[in-house]
Amino acid sequence: MTSERKRILTGVRPTGALHLGHYAGALENWIRLQHEYECYFLIADYQVSDYANDIERVRRSVFDVALDWLSVGLDPEGSHYVIESQVPEHAELTLWLSWWIGLGRLERNPTLKAEMADVEAKLDAVPVAFFNYPVMQVANILMPRAHLVPVGEDQAPHIELTREVARRFNRMFGGDREIFPVPEAMIGRVPRLVGLDGNAKMSKSLGNTIDLRDSTEDVTRKVMSMYTDPTRLRATDPGHVEGNPLFMYHDAFNPDVAQVNDFKERYLAGRVGDVEVKRALAKAINDLLEPFRERRAYYLANPQLVREALAAGTEVGRRTAQETMALVRDAIGLDYLADHSRWWPPSS
Ligand code: ATP
Ligand code: MG
Repeated sequence: MTSERKRILTGVRPTGALHLGHYAGALENWIRLQHEYECYFLIADYQVSDYANDIERVRRSVFDVALDWLSVGLDPEGSHYVIESQVPEHAELTLWLSWWIGLGRLERNPTLKAEMADVEAKLDAVPVAFFNYPVMQVANILMPRAHLVPVGEDQAPHIELTREVARRFNRMFGGDREIFPVPEAMIGRVPRLVGLDGNAKMSKSLGNTIDLRDSTEDVTRKVMSMYTDPTRLRATDPGHVEGNPLFMYHDAFNPDVAQVNDFKERYLAGRVGDVEVKRALAKAINDLLEPFRERRAYYLANPQLVREALAAGTEVGRRTAQETMALVRDAIGLDYLADHSRWWPPSS
């Protein structure tokens, strides 16, 4: 499907089930914008940092992610579900761009810095591919010549880098053409959702998630045991609302603002127990997830539709990537074989 709509490129790494952090930080915007923009939703399997250790998990997760996307209502008819590694142009563009991104520039990227600190201790075991991943992210965004990149806050530094590279590339090779639009970041309603354990980020690797596929019982159990205000021992103790994950989740997922405000007031005054506030939160989250569960059941019964969504989207992704790489090769002057004028007469 060709289209005059502006383009979105965004994605996730296939590391397992998607959670409420993905939803509030990113997916919600994707769902809202999916008809306004032509969307390339990328499953970034090249970028899973423990790829080499668990390829089987990555493989399964590709389908998990697609199933989650279908469940939340990302329509694969109007959008493209693209598997990164099945479009080899992503690897090619990554390599070209890596010539114009300095190591020093990467080291100033705060997201990479934080991740580097995690891996520093076991540097010997870090694959070279890890250092490539921000460059690859730049290549991914530029590949469909995207205008908008809706993501969670932790991705913002990568988009800033992409903007610099797009500008530099256009300046060096574009002549009077803009080869790559300079893409805008769009950060979700909840830029970084805290974890159930109070950690700054809900993240699979920290085991502090509510997954989009969790059952009603799972959600209730997780909410009932989540971290709240450690200084509050009894329901009659005045509690803290600010910085309390329980209320951050209410703000994020409970549409009944009057109820949330009433809880906050009573919590501050020591007139409500955690249990009542948690029950209401579990209900709000379950109300949000219920339609996803119904769609999931449908696709679980029709797995060929999941495969077809991935196959069709990846096909479009590949065609677009081929167009872009033709532009890039032409701009850089890699058309060695087009005719002989580029290299004739010989240089000496
Ligand atoms: P996890 O740590 O759970 O594996 P991740 O950060 O590795 O998640 P990615 O695939 O890298 O997940 O990110 C997918 C998208 O979801 C990105 O736009 C990212 O910013 C967003 N995202 C992930 N976790 C959160 C969160 N806790 N709050 C807000 N946005 C998030
Ligand atoms: Mg992940």
